[in-house]
Amino acid sequence: MKKIDSFKIDHTRMMEGVYVSRKDVTPHGDVLTTIDIRMKWPNHTYMAPKTMHTIEHLGATFLRSHPQLGDKVVYFGPMGCATGFYLILQGEWDSHQLVHVLQSLMAFIRDYKGDVPGATMQECGNYIYHDLKGAKEVAQDYLDVLNNITAENLSYPTD
Ligand SMILES: [Zn+2]
Repeated sequence: MKKIDSFKIDHTRMMEGVYVSRKDVTPHGDVLTTIDIRMKWPNHTYMAPKTMHTIEHLGATFLRSHPQLGDKVVYFGPMGCATGFYLILQGEWDSHQLVHVLQSLMAFIRDYKGDVPGATMQECGNYIYHDLKGAKEVAQDYLDVLNNITAENLSYPTD
């Protein structure tokens, strides 16, 4: 089997940030952009699974409800390595175009009060497996990254 493209990125040189992971073209000619929302420093820090689950619920709710972005969202979900999320969008996108909406998302999570959306037995496969407090802390940390974003945090490391 071939080595897939995302395994070819040098994760030892990647910091937290927002990256374009790939752009795929469907047989109909539509472009899908996969955004790498890298919230943690690979091989140094990572999210706890409950925290990641709560961010998934709040993130999917926020992004799919977003007035400009909502109808472009194909998928939002966590990376198995627990250092970030993938967001797949219809159309062609650059990483810097997502910074503002991700800042809004992180502020939404940090300030969220009440029940986690979708966290009931009817709506989720592990509905008690959540950590809103942890999600708020991770959101604040990543918001700090986004508020001080540089070119290095917007493009994958290249040779
Ligand atoms: Zn769930």
